[in-house]
Amino acid sequence: MRAVVLDREGALGVRDLPEPVVGTGEVKLRVLACGVCRTDLHIVDGELAPHRRPLVPGHQIVGTVVALGPPAAEGARLRLGDRVGVPWLGWSCGICAFCRHGQENLCPTARFTGYDIDGGFAEFAVADARYCFPIPSGYPDAQAAPLLCAGLIGYRALRFAGDAERLGIYGFGAAAHIVIQVARAQGRRVVAFTRPGDAAAQRFALDLGAEAALASDRPPDEPLDAALLFAPAGETVPAALRAVRPGGTVVCGGIHMSDIPSFPYEILWGERVLRSVANLTRQDGTDFLALAPTIPVRTEVTTFALGDTTAALDALRQGRIRGAAVVVP
Ligand SMILES: [Zn+2]
Ligand SMILES: [Zn+2]
Repeated sequence: MRAVVLDREGALGVRDLPEPVVGTGEVKLRVLACGVCRTDLHIVDGELAPHRRPLVPGHQIVGTVVALGPPAAEGARLRLGDRVGVPWLGWSCGICAFCRHGQENLCPTARFTGYDIDGGFAEFAVADARYCFPIPSGYPDAQAAPLLCAGLIGYRALRFAGDAERLGIYGFGAAAHIVIQVARAQGRRVVAFTRPGDAAAQRFALDLGAEAALASDRPPDEPLDAALLFAPAGETVPAALRAVRPGGTVVCGGIHMSDIPSFPYEILWGERVLRSVANLTRQDGTDFLALAPTIPVRTEVTTFALGDTTAALDALRQGRIRGAAVVVP
């Protein structure tokens, strides 16, 4: 099969690999679409420690089940021909304290799709059936793919904002363009913050219902109740702390960001909360994929052929994607 393979930091290329072999409790998928996430960039660029080389990245897979491994009990719920999604969380141990208390996203031995397990920038992929989700029928393949990470992890970040009415979103890419639709449907007011001078992203945010769109180094007109950070830029942390009211929350939604500049304690003082969001649980997936079609969340995608995956990553790195980039093998 044709696959995008990362051999070493920055060295990504398309080549032929043997088709993956399905194991116990697994399904083999013909990949229909695979979303491109900023985490893929961090993996390719070596900002996250390498777990496996060579590696097929990609963790927002939409695919058709073409083979079933020997049936594990849970795996039996999938059938040949089903259209399923594979998210970032590919496996968790099920027995550690985190797994037993609804925090499988924090499992210390969890394995992640497109990082520990070969992912979806390929014609075929194999996944543990217990970690696959049915895809809501109203979504075309490419439009469904960004729901699986941008959507799920964005939604998890939004939940940590609690009942915040006035919400700031820093970084207006794939996650933000989905989260704003959920936030608006919940009756929240949204202020978008983008790189200074990024008029296209600001216009996109306003089109999706933001009441204002500002440069990230600008304070909002009124204090925010909470802020979600999707930009990988550490300087947005003190900027967001300055923008939220006492008691407000700043949620860092990405897996990696540049170092956070030091800041005076007074901007955290006042019971402001600063926290991160790590990975996802299967419950997040079940909840969000049930919610998305009811709003309905619509994703805006730019599609790339498998051979153009490097171009898709470059476009994301340079902030040239409106909404989400999706590879369609
Ligand atoms: Zn992701
Ligand atoms: Zn565990």
